[in-house]
This record gives sequence, C-alpha cells and structure tokens, in this order.
Amino acid sequence: MIKEIQVRVNLQEESQKDILILKATQKLGITSNEISAIKVLRKSIDARKATIIFNYKVAVYINEPIPETTNYTFEFKDVSKAKEVHIIGFGPAGMFAALRCIELGFKPIVLERGKKVQERRRDLKAINQDHNVNEDSNYCFGEGGAGTYSDGKLYTRSLKRGDVRRVFENFVFHGATQQILIDAHPHIGTNKLPKVVENIRETILKYGGEIHFESRVVDFIIKNNTLKALQLQNGNEIAVNRVILATGHSARDIYYLLHKKEIALEAKSFAMGVRVEHPQHIIDSIQYHCTGERNELLPAAAYSLVQQIKGRGVYSFCMCPGGFIVPAATANGEVVVNGMSPSKRNNHFANSGVVVEINVDEDLHKYEQFGVLKGLEYQKDLEKLAFTAGGRSQTAPAQRLTDFVDGKLSTNLNDCSYQPGLKSAPLHSLLPKIIGGRLRTGFKYFGEKLRGYHTSEANIVGVESRTSSPVNIPRKENLEHPEINGLFPCGEGGGYAGGIVSAAMDGERCAEAAVAGL
Ligand SMILES: Cc1cc2nc3c(=O)[nH]c(=O)nc-3n(C[C@H](O)[C@H](O)[C@H](O)COP(=O)(O)OP(=O)(O)OC[C@H]3O[C@@H](n4cnc5c(N)ncnc54)[C@H](O)[C@@H]3O)c2cc1C
Repeated sequence: MIKEIQVRVNLQEESQKDILILKATQKLGITSNEISAIKVLRKSIDARKATIIFNYKVAVYINEPIPETTNYTFEFKDVSKAKEVHIIGFGPAGMFAALRCIELGFKPIVLERGKKVQERRRDLKAINQDHNVNEDSNYCFGEGGAGTYSDGKLYTRSLKRGDVRRVFENFVFHGATQQILIDAHPHIGTNKLPKVVENIRETILKYGGEIHFESRVVDFIIKNNTLKALQLQNGNEIAVNRVILATGHSARDIYYLLHKKEIALEAKSFAMGVRVEHPQHIIDSIQYHCTGERNELLPAAAYSLVQQIKGRGVYSFCMCPGGFIVPAATANGEVVVNGMSPSKRNNHFANSGVVVEINVDEDLHKYEQFGVLKGLEYQKDLEKLAFTAGGRSQTAPAQRLTDFVDGKLSTNLNDCSYQPGLKSAPLHSLLPKIIGGRLRTGFKYFGEKLRGYHTSEANIVGVESRTSSPVNIPRKENLEHPEINGLFPCGEGGGYAGGIVSAAMDGERCAEAAVAGL
C-alpha cells in the first residue's frame, strides 16, 4: 500500500537521520518495519514564523517496493529520413520543440545564430573583461539560448499551458538533478545548465536531427502567403515547409524583419526597472530571523515582493539568492543587466530585478510613431541611456538603494557581483518618471514589508529591461501565424512564454502543431 502524507519537520529535527520514517510511523500509527521506503514528493520551507518548518509531502510505501521507473518515458525515434521541421533558435523553446519533433517522428533542423555552449564561454569572458559584445554569441544568444547561462529557476505560473512535470522529467533525463522534481522552487543552477544543454544536443543528433550553429536567419522568402525558404547570413537559402520561430525576445532583428515585410505584429505590455543587490546575509537575517550566518541546513534566502503604485505593479522578478548580476546586452552600445546563480547558491550576494509594469497603450505616447514596435524602441532607449550613464562600456550605472530613494548621487558604491564594474550615476533622475518614481516609492514599501531591506548596503544597478517581450507575434488557434502559412511563432519571442519552463512547454506545443497534417 502507498500512502501520501504531509509531514512537518522543524530545524532541529531536519538534521536527524530517518526523521521522515519516524514522523510517518507517528502519523500513520505503524511501525518502521512496515515501511519499505519513503519517497519525497515535495519539499518547501516555511520561514514566516520564528520556528522554521520544512514541509514535506511524502509517499510512504507500506510493505511495498518503490517502483524504479517514472511515469514519464521519452520514446525518441530515428528521424534521419523523416519529414523535416525547421526550428529557428535553440533556446528552451527550440530545444523542446526539437525533442518533441523526434518523439513524434519528424526530423528537426535547428538553425541557431550563436555558438555551442563551450565556445560561447569565451564570448561571455569578452563581455565581462573587454566590454565587447558579440552580437551573435552572448548571455542571450547561443546554444541553450538565454536559458543556458541563466539562473535555471524552473518555477512557472503557466501551469495550464502544458505538462510542467514532463518538462522537469525531460531535464532530469538529460542530466539535471532529481531534486527539481521535489523542490517547491526548483533550480538547476548556471554551472549545471551547460551540461544539460549539451546532453539535449546529443539526443537530437543521435536520433537524426540536425543543429546548425553560427547560422543566423536574416530573411524569410514568402510566396502566396506561404513561407517557402529561409535565408541565412552567409547567403545560403534553405527550402522549408514548416518553421518554428523560437528566436527569443532579444532578437530585435527578427521583429524588424517581420515589420519590414508587413507581417502582423502586436505591441505588448511588459516591464522594466533595475536590479537590486544586497549582501546575502541581510536577506538571510530578514527571512530566517537570524543574526550572523544562517543555519547550514537552510538555503540562501529568497524573497518575492509586489506593490501597486499609481495603477502599475512594481514587483521583484527573477530573484537570485547567492547569485551574480550579469551583463545581458546583445549589442554594443547598450547596457542590460540580469541575474543568475550557481546550483549551490553560495555567492555572497542576493540580487533581484525590481521592475515596473509598462502599459503599452497608456505609457508610451511619445513612441506612438513606432507603431507596434513602440515598446521595443522604448526598451532600446533605456538600454542606451544605461550605456551612456555607465560610461559607454559594459560598466553599469548604479546607486546605493537609499540614495536612489532619497534622490541623491552616491559618493561611493558597495561591492557588487557585476564583473564589468559599476559607475555611480543619478538613476533617480535619469530613469523615466513612470519607472523611476514608482521604483523609489516601491522600495520604501518593500522596506516596510521586509525590515532591513531598505539599506545603504544595497546597490541598484541599471537597467533590467529584458523581463519579457514588448512585442507579440500573433498566431491562430492552430498556432500558425494568421497571415503566413507554415510559420509557427513560439516561446518568449512570440510573446507566449516568460521563462525557461513556459518556453519549453510552448516549444512542445508548437512542435505538435507544426507536424499536424505534414
Ligand atoms: C541571465 C538570465 C537569467 C535568467 N534566469 C531565468 C531563470 O532563472 N528562470 C527562468 O525561467 N528564466 C530565466 N531567464 C529567462 C529565460 O532564459 C528565457 O525566458 C528563456 O530562455 C526563453 O526561451 P526561448 O527559447 O523562447 O528564447 P531564448 O532562450 O531567448 O532563445 C532564443 C534563441 O534564438 C537564437 N536566435 C535569435 N535570433 C536568431 C536568428 N535570427 N537566427 C537564428 N537563431 C536566432 C538565439 O541565439 C537564442 O539561442 C533568464 C534570462 C537571462 C538572460
């Protein structure tokens, strides 16, 4: 017999061997001899009160062996001679679209502008050390897309858009830790992601798919409203039948191309702001009610904050405990920051985006001339502003949090994890008021919600501008573009995802849609 139960374990108990067996015997009124195994299904930490509790959901196997297989199997087929589906972009959406094509018996041919993960590392080093951004290979572009050198948090709210568990199992199948199947806030970590991405590449190649790196798509050849061929930057033209467009929301050239060809796009609301960085011990002491070092059984603490200010949400985004701030620009002449953390989350800093909702219909009147690309142009201008304020390199403009709120230039800054360095800048006056004003009020509220958060020991760093797509590429019910037969907009670039898991799920859905009737 298998019984699923909830178990509460306090911090002292957590280090005890076999505590879950003990708790199960107490809860079920059975002896430990009757328990053949305990499988943890879910684990979360409740630190709201002084006594910290680990909440477990466990399956207790009573006189019953634990099954060795999972419910999820991936039956990849030999697709070397199968009908082809072209996929532009090898981020989470493109990778999962390719894997799903193989399961469905179709051959994915992936075209990716960037390089393989290992080669990509050199280009990341060049950004951090030489301030030189390779426009095809950076923190957003290259094998695994923006997901590779990301934080690898797998939390998603898009539970209705697909099978989240299937995505997790697929990550585990390709080398991610089993722990992601259990944790309430699963996280792979930037040090582990490249290997998982490489393993996904190996699966695709092993079963007969193709992946072409350094193959930027620069044009679509369309005849009678049907996508007939793709043109690559090297001049090659590739005949196509079904194309999944999974280029992410940093691929502005793709939006410009579609717009130039008068292919329907829509402006979409999005969010922008700054990244805030605290010493991790401050966040630990707030969240775990401790002084000094946190207990070794506790992970680096996280937070999630939201406040409505003058009709717009101001909220924390992509919080990275024990992480780093990274330069996520995709072109020279712009500064964009984002965050990531290693699997152990053992860096000394806690960073998070703190962003303001931008309502594309009400907030961007000065950009109306750009039509559906108004959000994109606004985003670009903010990134250029950060570049200029940072000193015209990848050095980012920054301010002490308290100075930003008080409207003062910082005479000096705190240490920071951002490798290209910081330059003190008056972000309180440089940021557009709809963003800067709301952020300043928002941080005051956040300081009331988390005592100690509003501190001069924190920096804010500009700008966090790539939280989500400012453009939507429309699609019909069958996920095809309403005007172009054979084109399936997908993932974050299409406006259908806001993170790794939702992009992966959308990739799977687009693969299913693209092969229908082939
Ligand atoms: C630093 C950082 C940290 C992040 N942390 C997290 C996190 O912890 N959790 C989370 O859920 N999300 C995180 N994200 C966001 C997440 O990475 C994205 O939501 C996700 O990668 C989107 O997937 P995608 O496949 O739609 O697009 P992308 O990952 O952007 O992939 C698009 C791919 O298309 C390629 N491409 C673009 N244009 C062309 C072209 N013309 N021709 C050929 N190829 C092209 C690009 O090179 C890229 O590889 C983070 C992002 C960054 C930058």
